[in-house]
Amino acid sequence: MLRFIIFVLLLYLILRLVSFWRRISRSSSPPSSASPPTLSGRMVKDEVCQMYLPRENALREIIDGEEHFFCSAECRRKCLEDRKAKS
Ligand SMILES: [Zn+2]
Repeated sequence: MLRFIIFVLLLYLILRLVSFWRRISRSSSPPSSASPPTLSGRMVKDEVCQMYLPRENALREIIDGEEHFFCSAECRRKCLEDRKAKS
């Protein structure tokens, strides 16, 4: 009988611990932390999708001696293909 009581007590403690841990892990990822990520404050424009992004997060590409920035490799590829088609 004593063993059963200890078992129930342990189960209860584990359940308490789990719910406590869940509450902590939920509150430790607040959605309000989406602050401007840039340190330098320098924003560049992706001319393909017209998006502004921090320079350090952008992909840099020199095309015809000009610096271009893209949000992703996909946009860089599109730009390069566009230029190839034009020339
Ligand atoms: Zn883009």
